[in-house]
Amino acid sequence: MKGLVLEKQDKIENNPLKLMDIEDLVPGKNQVKVKVKYCGICRTDLHTIEGDIPLKKSPIIVGHEIVGMVDEIGENVKSFKKGDLVGISWFNGSCGKCKFCKKGKTNFCPEIKLTGWNVDGGYAEYTLVDEDAAFNLNGIKKLDLTCLAPILCPGIAGYNTFKLLEAPKNMAIGLIGFGPTAYYVLKVAKYFGNKVYVSSRSEYHRNEALRNGADFVGNIYEEKPPFKLDGAIIFPPAGDLVEIVLESMEPDGILVLSGITMSKIIIENYHENLWGRTIKTLYHINKKEGEEFLKLVENLNLDIEIELFKLENAVEGLKKLKNGKLKGMNGVIEI
Ligand SMILES: [Zn+2]
Ligand SMILES: [Zn+2]
Repeated sequence: MKGLVLEKQDKIENNPLKLMDIEDLVPGKNQVKVKVKYCGICRTDLHTIEGDIPLKKSPIIVGHEIVGMVDEIGENVKSFKKGDLVGISWFNGSCGKCKFCKKGKTNFCPEIKLTGWNVDGGYAEYTLVDEDAAFNLNGIKKLDLTCLAPILCPGIAGYNTFKLLEAPKNMAIGLIGFGPTAYYVLKVAKYFGNKVYVSSRSEYHRNEALRNGADFVGNIYEEKPPFKLDGAIIFPPAGDLVEIVLESMEPDGILVLSGITMSKIIIENYHENLWGRTIKTLYHINKKEGEEFLKLVENLNLDIEIELFKLENAVEGLKKLKNGKLKGMNGVIEI
């Protein structure tokens, strides 16, 4: 099979991904082998490729927004059969035995497998996933298959992030930064009747937020939101935003940091800005919340614009992502 392999982390401009022939995959016990049809291009792939996060496996095939067909099932697989439509996200499997797995907090499992980080992902013709980590997409009827790829990462991650706000309804929520993940949080937050403020430095993104249902938009670096926030999510890896956002929160507010990396966080005024408030971080994603989101997703009136790339042109898509040039914010590889 063919796959795009990262052997050494490097800037995307230096084309560090090489298209190679790789030995065919054989599904292990409780695993399914998936023929990849689509794989989303994500900023986390770029972080992995360029060395912003350390490599957990080398060489590695990145890509964790995978839509495909079950091609072969391994020993003991019960919930999938050949030909099923299947989705694979960042979560690729966990031990099932540790205290976190037993509590349903599989995202904290010390043996967690992460697609395209410590196991090979979807920039290839085939990939493997644990049965328990794969999503059965047979029930999705209204959405186009190309759109399902981003739903599996920014969509599910966004929903996991939203849940960290402790399922607010009819509250005031701030979304700081407006990329693909924030788009899904906005849709979910509005679906549950919340008032949503979106901050972005980009006029284009502020307009996109308004078009997709935000009640107020602005740039929190320049002026405060027009109301106090019960919950807020910071998407960019900019630690300096933390105290700026906390200043605009109610004293019992929950602030969620959704990034996988973050620059230095300094809180100078504990009494005014932190006391009483809670700061949480999104730590990988949980299968249970992913399934909840996939049940909800067809009710959200999503309008997902996609730019398609061939596998051999994935680097072009990654460069466009890096430079903010992707049409509709979502690049997808078609295989
Ligand atoms: Zn992703
Ligand atoms: Zn575990």
